[in-house]
Amino acid sequence: MGLNDRVSHCAKCEFMKMYDYGNRIYYCDHADRIDDMGKLGVDHPPKTIPMWCPLRENVNE
Ligand code: SF4
Repeated sequence: MGLNDRVSHCAKCEFMKMYDYGNRIYYCDHADRIDDMGKLGVDHPPKTIPMWCPLRENVNE
């Protein structure tokens, strides 16, 4: 246990953004993200955080 309260998953993260082009696309807008697209999910907000999350080092799993 011991997930950081602040960022336990993307849906609670201030860096998660969403746009709607027919499908709702959720993506990460963090400046330090290392993933090209930053895509997190389609239609549903993500329930987890990706391996490439730049805040992940703050999270102990
Ligand atoms: S990947 Fe990390 S920084 Fe990006 S939205 Fe998810 S929790 Fe926030």
